[in-house]
Amino acid sequence: MSLSQGRSYLAIPGPSVMPERVLQAMHQPCPNIYEGGLIELTHSLIPDLKHVAGTAGQAAIYIANGHGAWEAAVSNVLAPGDTVLVLATGRFCEGWGEMAGALGVTVETLDFGNQATIDLAQVEAHLAADKSGRIKAVMAVHVDTSTSVLNDIAALRRSLDAAGHGALLMVDCIASLGCDKFLMDEWGVDLMVTACQKGLMTPPGISFVFFSDKAAAARNAMTRVSSYWDWNARINPEYFYQYFCGTAPTQHLLGLREALDMILEEELDHVWARHEAIARAVWAACEA
Ligand SMILES: *Cc1c(COP(=O)(O)O)cnc(C)c1O
Repeated sequence: MSLSQGRSYLAIPGPSVMPERVLQAMHQPCPNIYEGGLIELTHSLIPDLKHVAGTAGQAAIYIANGHGAWEAAVSNVLAPGDTVLVLATGRFCEGWGEMAGALGVTVETLDFGNQATIDLAQVEAHLAADKSGRIKAVMAVHVDTSTSVLNDIAALRRSLDAAGHGALLMVDCIASLGCDKFLMDEWGVDLMVTACQKGLMTPPGISFVFFSDKAAAARNAMTRVSSYWDWNARINPEYFYQYFCGTAPTQHLLGLREALDMILEEELDHVWARHEAIARAVWAACEA
C-alpha cells in the first residue's frame, strides 16, 4: 500500500520541480503558429534568455534536450579534423567531447577526476605549448552534475588569456543556469549551452546555444553546417518557423515564458542567493 497522496516530487537535478505556474501556463489548446500572440511571446523570450545568460550576444533555440544543444554547438563551430580540448571534471564534459569526436573532431582531454575543479595551471601550460594554434576550442562544464564540481569560469578565461591562446571558450551551463551565478560576457565565454529543464523550470524539450561575435565568425568561416543545427537562420528568422527549423514547440514556449517571468520577478541575484542559501543548509545538515 502506498502512503503517498497528491503530486509526486522528483528530487533529482533535472527535470527539476516544475512550478504550478509553469504547468498552468502550458495547459492551453494549441495557439496559432502563423500569427498573433505566440509570435510576440517568442520574440519576447530572446532578450530575457540573454539577460539570464548575462550576454548581449546571440541566442538560438532548439527543440532538443541538452544533448541536442551540445551537438548544435559543435556543429556550428567545429569541423571534422579540428581539435578541441576537453576539461573533464565528471561525466558530462567527457560526454560533450565524445559527441564532438563522433562528428570527426579530434579530442584532447585533460581529466581532473571526480573530486577536483579544473587545474588552471595545467590548462595554461597545455595551451601555452600549443604554439601552432592546433586547439580551436576549449570545452568545460560550469557545474558537472555527475560529480557536483563547480568550476570557476572567469578564472578559466584568465588562463586562456595568460597562455595567449585564441581558442573559443565553450561552456555547458545545462545544470547551472538560473541556479549558480553565471555572467557570460563579463567572464569572456564565447559559447554557452543550456537546456530548459533544470534552473529554467520548464519540462524537458527545448535547449539553447548562446554565442559571441567571435563564435559567430567561427560559424561563418565553416565550409558546411547541417541545416538543422545551423544557428544563422534561427537568430535572424525571416519567417517564424525559422526560429525552430519547423513547427514551434508551442506549449514549451508558454511554459518557458512563465518560468522566465518568475525569474525576472524574483530577480537573478535573489535566485542565486536562494540556491546558495538552500545549498548551505543541505551541506550543514549532512555535516550534522
Ligand atoms: C542534464 C545535463 C546534461 C544533459 O542534458 P540532457 O537534457 O539530458 O541531454 C548535460 N550537461 C549537464 C551539466 C547536465 O546537468
